[in-house]
Amino acid sequence: MPGLEDLYREIILDHYRSPRNRGELAPPAVRAEGHNPLCGDEIQVYLDVKDGIVTDIKIGGQGCSISQSSASMMSAAVKGKPIAEIRNLVRRFKNMMSIEEDDESTPPLDESKPLGDLEALRGVVKFPVRIKCATLAWNTLLDGLDQSI
Ligand code: ZN
Repeated sequence: MPGLEDLYREIILDHYRSPRNRGELAPPAVRAEGHNPLCGDEIQVYLDVKDGIVTDIKIGGQGCSISQSSASMMSAAVKGKPIAEIRNLVRRFKNMMSIEEDDESTPPLDESKPLGDLEALRGVVKFPVRIKCATLAWNTLLDGLDQSI
């Protein structure tokens, strides 16, 4: 697969080898689970939500380097953030993965903050089969946020 090296840039490997916020949170933390049957990736997202802020997040699961490093980056990016900001970030990430939204009722994207490490996953868009790996943690996060309301 030509160009695959591009996918495994240093940041991605770093998050894969040293995943951030790995573990579990005890109830009443929200627990959401995602599965990508195409690749065999599994993600569990645990969320502590207080006053509209994700005060803590832990990630469990296993799978390919893209799914696990994306989950690690996601956890680092959303910890301590308000839910509204997190939802905006999820949309930006999906946009980066070329996942279009046609709902005109959604508010405009706030792109004022840098994406940071998440930019490293931009190259995944060239490999459509891996997009589901990269977005798995983010869809699981949305599930968890919906449960927390
Ligand atoms: Zn995968």
